[in-house]
Amino acid sequence: MNKLTATRNLDDLITRVEGARLKISEHHIVKIIGISKYSTSKEIEELYNVGQRAFGENKVQDLKIKTQDLEELPLEWHFVGTLQKNKINNLIDLNPSLIHSIDSLELAQELNKKLEVKNKKLSILLQINSAYEDTKSGVIPEVAVEIYKQILDTCPNVRLKGVMSIGAHVSDEKIVKESFKTTKKIYDELVPFGAKYCSMGMSSDYELAIACGSNMIRVGSTLFKD
Ligand SMILES: *Cc1c(COP(=O)(O)O)cnc(C)c1O
Repeated sequence: MNKLTATRNLDDLITRVEGARLKISEHHIVKIIGISKYSTSKEIEELYNVGQRAFGENKVQDLKIKTQDLEELPLEWHFVGTLQKNKINNLIDLNPSLIHSIDSLELAQELNKKLEVKNKKLSILLQINSAYEDTKSGVIPEVAVEIYKQILDTCPNVRLKGVMSIGAHVSDEKIVKESFKTTKKIYDELVPFGAKYCSMGMSSDYELAIACGSNMIRVGSTLFKD
């Protein structure tokens, strides 16, 4: 990906995000996270040079390498992958600005415990499996509000900032939409409890996710394509 491609990819994305968000409201702001898991540090830098600041990785080791490679740049790093317990300390040390993928009360409590030891705090989202797919992580919608409140009550060192979902992995748009709406409904219930981010939408479905109320999208392949 060269500078021209980076410019075109980011401009196309911003144009389409603008179109989708303005259909909701001028005041509906959508944050774009560039998911760089299949991309090099050099490509991340190309996108930084044309204006993108927030990036996300799904493996702790890759996040470590890329934050080190690019430490001179004022980037904001997100973690979006499955978090193994034995990697929690490594992730804490990388100080990500948001962990999107806390998928159980147990994992939140484990993270909280390790944060306490280090006397640190980190921001997280609760992942919800709104598509009810076996291949996806996350709490099921029926218990999401309850688990969210339990994290709030028992994890003082995590800053719980909202929810994350991956849209249903099917071609039928109605079903994908249903999964986004399920997450948005839970998010709305949690706003009085401090939820700020509804992270949903990827390359194939971010416009639909925004139409359903997403205010944070995680876009990889279309942003980094050649
Ligand atoms: C890879 C990934 C994305 C980005 O996917 P694309 O389809 O490449 O846009 C978003 N969210 C999560 C959790 C991912 O693992």
